[in-house]
Amino acid sequence: AASGGQRYLDGLNGEQRAAVEAVDGPVLVLAGAGTGKTRVLTTRIAHIIAQGRAKAHDILAVTFTNKAAREMRDRVAMLAGPVAESMPWLGTFHAISTKILRRHAELVGLKSSFTILDSDDQIRLLKQVLQAENIDDKRWPARALAYQIDAWKNRGLDPAHVPPGEAAVFANGKGAQLYALYQERLKILNAADFGDLLLECLRLLRENPDVLKQYQDRFRYMLVDEYQDTNTIQYLWLCLLAQGRHNICCVGDDDQSIYGWRGAEVDNILRFEKDFPGAKVIRLERNYRSTGHILAVAAGLIAHNEGRLGKTLFTDDEAGEKPSVCGVWDSEEEARGVGEEIEQLARKGHAYDEFAILVRASFQMREFEERFITLGLPYRVIGGPRFYERAEIRDALAYLRCVAQPADDLAFERIFNVPRRGLGDATLQLLHEYARGQRLPLMQAAQYMVETDEIKPKQRQVLRDLLTSFSRWATLIDQKPQGELIEMILEESGYTDMWRKDRTAEAAGRLENLKELVRAMEEFPDLGAFLEHISLVMEAETKDAGPRVSIMTLHAAKGLEFETVFLPGWEEGLFPHQRSLDESGRAGLEEERRLAYVGVTRARRRAKIYFATNRRIHGLWQTTLPSRFLDELPADHVEVVEAATGSAYGGYAQSRFANMDSYGSSYETPGWRRAQRRNEETRQGQGAAKSSGFGRGAAQRGPLQIEGELVAKSSA
Ligand code: ATP
Ligand code: MG
Repeated sequence: AASGGQRYLDGLNGEQRAAVEAVDGPVLVLAGAGTGKTRVLTTRIAHIIAQGRAKAHDILAVTFTNKAAREMRDRVAMLAGPVAESMPWLGTFHAISTKILRRHAELVGLKSSFTILDSDDQIRLLKQVLQAENIDDKRWPARALAYQIDAWKNRGLDPAHVPPGEAAVFANGKGAQLYALYQERLKILNAADFGDLLLECLRLLRENPDVLKQYQDRFRYMLVDEYQDTNTIQYLWLCLLAQGRHNICCVGDDDQSIYGWRGAEVDNILRFEKDFPGAKVIRLERNYRSTGHILAVAAGLIAHNEGRLGKTLFTDDEAGEKPSVCGVWDSEEEARGVGEEIEQLARKGHAYDEFAILVRASFQMREFEERFITLGLPYRVIGGPRFYERAEIRDALAYLRCVAQPADDLAFERIFNVPRRGLGDATLQLLHEYARGQRLPLMQAAQYMVETDEIKPKQRQVLRDLLTSFSRWATLIDQKPQGELIEMILEESGYTDMWRKDRTAEAAGRLENLKELVRAMEEFPDLGAFLEHISLVMEAETKDAGPRVSIMTLHAAKGLEFETVFLPGWEEGLFPHQRSLDESGRAGLEEERRLAYVGVTRARRRAKIYFATNRRIHGLWQTTLPSRFLDELPADHVEVVEAATGSAYGGYAQSRFANMDSYGSSYETPGWRRAQRRNEETRQGQGAAKSSGFGRGAAQRGPLQIEGELVAKSSA
């Protein structure tokens, strides 16, 4: 045990302690999930402060999110006392870079008060640049350019350094030139976009040796969490700053690298040992988070990836409950099942904040949110807005409200110029004045104004077209199923297309959310009922500060842990996601598998995996295949369970799954099926073979009969 002054070292194991105490020189801690990497970092900070090696404000500590930064600050304060509360250099790469940049802004042609552009501003500015260059933004959308520029920035490339081959990708070879023009515009506006925060900071340090030296001296110790997800520019930035004192400690896990799609380079782990010769590499192998079965499942799954650095992981904890796999009919039953399991555990005394639901795609949240609202079960969405509060959903709802409730001015204002149709603030101003004067709703005012010449001819035409569309859509309310109606509106208004043309990473998710909205609408008899439901849902925001169930994406769950973790939607095309399957090569699929590994390893005691055998798409039921990841789970550590809802469809799902051989022969590890069969035998052995459908062959439940069930359910 540590002596009196070093209580914070108590309880660490030998390797952890070595990692804490090896404060001088470069250190790389390479270790699996839950081995205490983050804990080592916090303890290290406490150790550095307690030993008087550096003051809290001379330590640079990088976390992946602001939330993680807050947690780390609290944890250090607990270990080292209040001195640690003021750690000005503890934050994300962006937060720390911004801080440095503001101090020396003039050296890169900015004022210290520079504004940080959000992605909307960025697009607007790029549109102006394209326009000035006479480039057709239909053919070469600003969003595509934004995506390209961000990618360059992530790789640390300013316009002068874009490789000639790549510069040609946009507008017939104008890519780099447009990038340069955009950067000039930013300077004139005294603004930086998100990517600039790092890029300009790096340039600042490179071009001003005295400034660089100042920070190299200042940061006596540097620490980086989630190192596997740093991208090239972040790596360059770290290297430069660490060249002063060489006291840099990075902790990471190559198996948890899940931001490749945003430019993260897991190779930075390998680079570290090259760029910091003599780096100490420490491995932590004992997992303190999860029980035996959970770890075994995670390990069995990730073993299917090639190109791993390889790590061992063990726990002294009990074997615990086996992770469960539960097949359900559809996502609605899935949400019901999860809700029921949570309520059951809550009745046994588990607090709501012990539960997390980790989804692959944000659209999956909708069903859970609705279910929890119905149950009155307190929840919060972490790392993003709730489903119905998402920008794209609000836009779509605004269109609907304009159709169903033409006096809804707020809705009209919201979509007036979304997608951009050349209707500016000036036009809106005119409408407002007229509407106020005549005490009319905006849309009605617009009806009058398009007949006058107060609005410029071009805008007048656009506005007239928009109003005509709205009247036409309104006549369809009672004629078309509302799901079809909203799809049509979003299509004809150009709204869907706006996102289709968008090449940013979020666009695909937004399109999925819109599809989910259509699905949600199909559950209601008419548009009025749906809109009323929405107002109730929006109202239902749980205000009480008590413990709540967390809903978030797998990406947002990195570094966190929960007693019980629900992992819904393990189906081919959703998880692994279709995008990764469409990619050539294994890279995409392997990143999906790492994401699954991250998901399972968030669980301390319970991991509950779900898959649905059906999804409703465009009002039709479509059969989905269980995720290949299920097949990769080691059979001995998995339990196959009936849907908690006791629905017959759970059994159906399993029977379907048990017969996957017929069309899933490429699955190499039949672990999952073995588990299923064994469970089945046990059950039959106990004479408790419920009507689970286990072991029933395809011949008895052929596709035709299944179709019958599908039709029956969908028309119900
Ligand atoms: P991830 O890869 O998911 O980020 P990690 O390696 O950062 O995981 P931590 O979050 O630091 O792991 O630790 C996992 C859990 O194990 C935490 O609850 C932590 O408090 C606990 N833990 C770590 N080390 C020890 C230890 N020596 N004794 C007891 N508990 C520990
Ligand atoms: Mg961690």
